[in-house]
Amino acid sequence: MGLRPDEISSIIKEQIKRYDEVVETKDIGKVMTIGDGVSLIHGLDNAMLGELLEFPHEVYGMVMNLEEDYVGAVLLGQSDEIKEGDEVKRTGKIIEVPVGDEMLGRVVNPLGQAIDGQGPILTNKTRPIERVAPGVMTRKSVSVPLQTGITSIDAIIPIGRGQRELIIGDRQTGKTAIAIDTILNQKGQDIYCVYVAIGQKNSTVAQIVEKLRQGGAMDYTTIVSASASELAPVQYIAPYAGCAIAEEWLDKGKDVLIVYDDLSKHAVAYRTVSLLLKRPPGREAYPGDVFYLHSRLLERACRLNDEMGGGSITALPIIETQAGDISAYIPTNVISITDGQIFLQQDLFNAGFRPAIDTGLSVSRVGSAAQIKAMKQVSGSLKLELAQFAEMQAFAQFGSDLDNATKAVLDHGQKVREVLKQAQYSPRSVETQVITLFALKHGFTKQIPVTKINLFMDELLEEIASNHDDYIQEIKVEKAISPELEAKLKETIGTFAERFVKTAEKEG
Ligand code: ATP
Ligand code: MG
Repeated sequence: MGLRPDEISSIIKEQIKRYDEVVETKDIGKVMTIGDGVSLIHGLDNAMLGELLEFPHEVYGMVMNLEEDYVGAVLLGQSDEIKEGDEVKRTGKIIEVPVGDEMLGRVVNPLGQAIDGQGPILTNKTRPIERVAPGVMTRKSVSVPLQTGITSIDAIIPIGRGQRELIIGDRQTGKTAIAIDTILNQKGQDIYCVYVAIGQKNSTVAQIVEKLRQGGAMDYTTIVSASASELAPVQYIAPYAGCAIAEEWLDKGKDVLIVYDDLSKHAVAYRTVSLLLKRPPGREAYPGDVFYLHSRLLERACRLNDEMGGGSITALPIIETQAGDISAYIPTNVISITDGQIFLQQDLFNAGFRPAIDTGLSVSRVGSAAQIKAMKQVSGSLKLELAQFAEMQAFAQFGSDLDNATKAVLDHGQKVREVLKQAQYSPRSVETQVITLFALKHGFTKQIPVTKINLFMDELLEEIASNHDDYIQEIKVEKAISPELEAKLKETIGTFAERFVKTAEKEG
């Protein structure tokens, strides 16, 4: 057979001539089927995964499946008016969101459109919502603390800037509360925050915005909300959009905190999309790549080295468990991706121990490197003390006579737990945390009854704030308790405790 050389060149010439046309026709396809927010499109041979497609009636879609003869796309808007045979155009772009300082104080949907009724957002910069996470060589280890303002976290499960710490627990156990308190506590810390609400009620999000505004936290916070009524694909892209907004600041060398509330609902949205696209369901009907879904998101949290600007993204993903089951599919996935978890227990919450953090099951794998020395000096034995307390408490329930050593452990443990109780919206500075834990550690609370312990701590902090502000300043600046400061603290707290006990006795 064989082709003659001049034939070959004429064929190639012909192909080159038609090349433009080929590109043209490959960029426009036709709707084969449409329904349930999913469309199969014929003729878009060049479409890329994640690419934005333009449907008629100003509806956009996103390519999710690349098959041999067609592509599968999800629609990011109402599909009622689109019919089979309609034209679909490639845009050559993946979804982008507006980014920059103009986003601060705003509430946006995952496409970056304002939904807070304060007019359009005037940024001139956008970013694709997907980005490959920074590589190993551009990263630095975590060494700067991110103070949550919640004593049990900062003391026992400390979080560092650039860390990914999971907040996990049943419904209504205070997961969101921890995240919101952490955002409130970043005031004046030069950290920007992004709160991503996925599949929540609009009323809940409105309350959160209101709380943040009252606390002055909206000045440095952006909220991305894909409410429960939003289409599944829109919920699916929400965390990536939030992360892109955070990355703009990261690349400018800023420290950013991002909260994903919550990734269980995100996984459900992705499952919906995948099942509609007829991808094979796996465990719990989730598609096989659901692990990758969350790992590629959480890997984007990082601390960059100085050459890259030294910025960081700290991620606090939230996962809701069913009946405390942390071994279900999605919880185990996210536990293995993150650098630790804060586990919230329904029982503790109901018993009034709030925040309901189970210190036994919670860990922070990198944060202790970031804890300030003063905190390390006073909190080192806390986790063990609480574990001992829990063990002895179970034992003491049998009601037998207890020896003095056991009684002391029980008494101390009760007081520690009392001090770790903390109301919502009342973050504590790290200096006050250090002082209260110092008083506990050095036994100044032995004579104080458990019921009076929080009153004692409040008055002690007042006393130190008004008469010994230099202690607070020293901890703030030196970040450690020097032997001299230790002596001074012991002196002041000792005298104060004596006085407190005397007045308490007098009052009966
Ligand atoms: P959901 O599963 O519905 O998202 P959640 O786990 O996020 O719930 P929150 O909404 O944060 O829980 O809190 C549940 C309730 O507990 C709220 O009414 C909140 O005000 C209350 N709460 C949370 N933390 C505390 C706290 N430290 N002290 C007192 N009340 C708290
Ligand atoms: Mg919540």
